[in-house]
Amino acid sequence: MASETPDQPVAKPKPKRINLRRPDIMEQVKAQVITHYRSDLVDRLRAKGEVTCPNGQITIKLAKEFGFCYGVDRCIDLAYAARKVFPDKPLYILGEIIHNPEVNDQIREMGIQFLSGPHQSADIDDLSEGDIVIIPAFGTEVTIREKLEAKGCQVVDTTCGDVRMVWKRVRTYAKQEVTSIIHGKASHEETMATSSQAIAKNGHYIVVSTFEETDLVCDYIINGGNKEALLKRFDGCYSEGFDPDTHLRTVGVANQTTMMRGETEEVQRRIKAAIQKRYGTENTDAHFRFFDTICGATQDRQDALKVMLQEPLDLLLVIGGYNSSNTSHLAEMGEHVLPTYFIKNVQEINGLQSISHWNQHNQQLEETPHWLPEGPIRVGITAGASCPNNLIEDVINHLLELRNTSAEEFLAN
Ligand code: SF4
Repeated sequence: MASETPDQPVAKPKPKRINLRRPDIMEQVKAQVITHYRSDLVDRLRAKGEVTCPNGQITIKLAKEFGFCYGVDRCIDLAYAARKVFPDKPLYILGEIIHNPEVNDQIREMGIQFLSGPHQSADIDDLSEGDIVIIPAFGTEVTIREKLEAKGCQVVDTTCGDVRMVWKRVRTYAKQEVTSIIHGKASHEETMATSSQAIAKNGHYIVVSTFEETDLVCDYIINGGNKEALLKRFDGCYSEGFDPDTHLRTVGVANQTTMMRGETEEVQRRIKAAIQKRYGTENTDAHFRFFDTICGATQDRQDALKVMLQEPLDLLLVIGGYNSSNTSHLAEMGEHVLPTYFIKNVQEINGLQSISHWNQHNQQLEETPHWLPEGPIRVGITAGASCPNNLIEDVINHLLELRNTSAEEFLAN
């Protein structure tokens, strides 16, 4: 039998796959998820689209698509199912299950221990054979997955299928010696997982998050320039050994699934134009690839908000975690059109006096006094893919209170 030394860990045999989706388990999970996150008020308002309260002081309109997406639903279901299938075993999760503080609190209350982040209570190095570890919907880096497997951990993988599609694309680029230019946030869990897929196939990547960064890369593609300056500017956002002189000759664009479609299209248009300028239009195919990897749920929420923003509204409330990429983009869309407040929950509303809301541009909370206009108002509401309906309900109830009405009166209208 092979011995195990600190230098050469011997991979443990893969644990047997366990079916968490047993009908009896899923029935219990469904019931528990409903009690934690469902809202009758939101369901009824969704069915009506918009409602004006009887005193005429407030109309609330919900975007057609908002809140939990299929990937989040699935990941929460699997985490809850794991808790039920292994009621007495220690259960771990790599990091935040989704970008929503309340949902993460709920996960911790169920005794699921975090292996990273502000609520970390265990370390991945201390795990051993048979320990159960949940991979969140964003997925994880290849090296972390390998580490868990080498330790013989039982992995509950909730990686969303749409994220896997991006991975597939990036792996294909790497196999074809095409460098991935990933439009996303380098520190976001999903983008870290995606970029690791390029490295796993001996490929290269660079992450761009803004048009300014895209233009720097484009300029280098066209004119070359100061390599050290470029690498310094993108520190932490490219693969080890990335050499812009070599690795920007043939590039493929991919994106984090939750980016803004218009921005991702503009990023790929600029990079394509740079490649064509450098190598000639006739050589585009030899030097450039593109594949749209924005997920359906993100797209649906952006499309629904776009439609809602064409209607007369006095203000927009965007509800969701401040580190949620897809929610940030919804807030960004609103800001261009009308007063928009990005809040994580009802506690950010200080009655009529003020509202604390997230300014994603300077990454700070801002306080706006007298935020609710007087007289009859129309308020639009949307929420990111990681925001449960019960948090939306809290906000609606508070708005109704501020207009001296109740949910019963409101829904009766
Ligand atoms: S936002 Fe999109 S990629 Fe992310 S979990 Fe939801 S469906 Fe999947």
